[in-house]
Amino acid sequence: MDLGITGKWALVCAASKGLGKGCAAALVREGVNVVITARGAETLQATAAELRALGGGEVHAIAGDITTAEGRAAALAACPQIDILVNNAGGPPPGDFRDWGREAWIKALDANMLTPIELMKATVDAMAGRGYGRVVNITSGAVKAPIDILGLSNGARSGLTGFVAGLARSNIAARGVTINSLLPGAFDTDRLRVTMQGAATKTGQPLDVLMSKRAGAIPAQRLGTSAEFGAVCAFICSVHAGYLTGQNILLDGGAYPGTF
Ligand code: NAD
Repeated sequence: MDLGITGKWALVCAASKGLGKGCAAALVREGVNVVITARGAETLQATAAELRALGGGEVHAIAGDITTAEGRAAALAACPQIDILVNNAGGPPPGDFRDWGREAWIKALDANMLTPIELMKATVDAMAGRGYGRVVNITSGAVKAPIDILGLSNGARSGLTGFVAGLARSNIAARGVTINSLLPGAFDTDRLRVTMQGAATKTGQPLDVLMSKRAGAIPAQRLGTSAEFGAVCAFICSVHAGYLTGQNILLDGGAYPGTF
């Protein structure tokens, strides 16, 4: 299927690794020109080289913290225009809400709610003016089924989800702009491995045993891959998905047990 997005420009945030990288790779394969960001320049440049080797759209890499005003300004300045925005950043740490003060909450809100809102504010009106725009927010399955130790994530991402539900249905909807969120369940990325390593150290169980237990609890009996996450993202960004907006799409191998 031709996704019809060759030559479009995408800003893919937090994309040197994991799910962001999977989205960038899928878009580059479709001939989309991408600007990718991450904090560490070295890994980011290595990822950019990998993406260029795919032989699709142009790839530009901008090192910086996307949760800061400077990081966002640099990322936005690197794109001649933004047709596709993939919002992503690292997830907040696990813990007990009794230990979190205002600073921890503000950090989580900055990364997982206010940064994507700032980037939408900077881009959606111009998208609407050109009659085409796609925003994909990488959130979490925790928006649909909260995870007790990830209270910062549950709270901040739910705030973003509520805001987006309104914005997606505003006057930009009739002008070719869609906004959707992709909710990952368990994907085999560094983030998941670091979290699982923490559990392995705490419980004294080997990491591979915990990883296979985790996979075994999912109906698909495996973890997701960044490539399949990216493929869904690219479809949502395609010309074929223009009637899909304001949705929260769970990608979790069937882990969420509800009918809806
Ligand atoms: P990852 O650790 O594999 O990759 C994260 C990427 O984000 C890296 O490229 C990192 O350099 C970049 N990054 C982090 N903070 C940044 C910042 N402030 N500015 C710029 N770049 C930054 O993580 P992942 O598994 O790909 O997760 C992506 C998002 O999805 C996270 O918010 C995570 O909490 C969420 N998520 C992941 C899973 C999963 O199973 N992997 C499940 C649910 C939610």
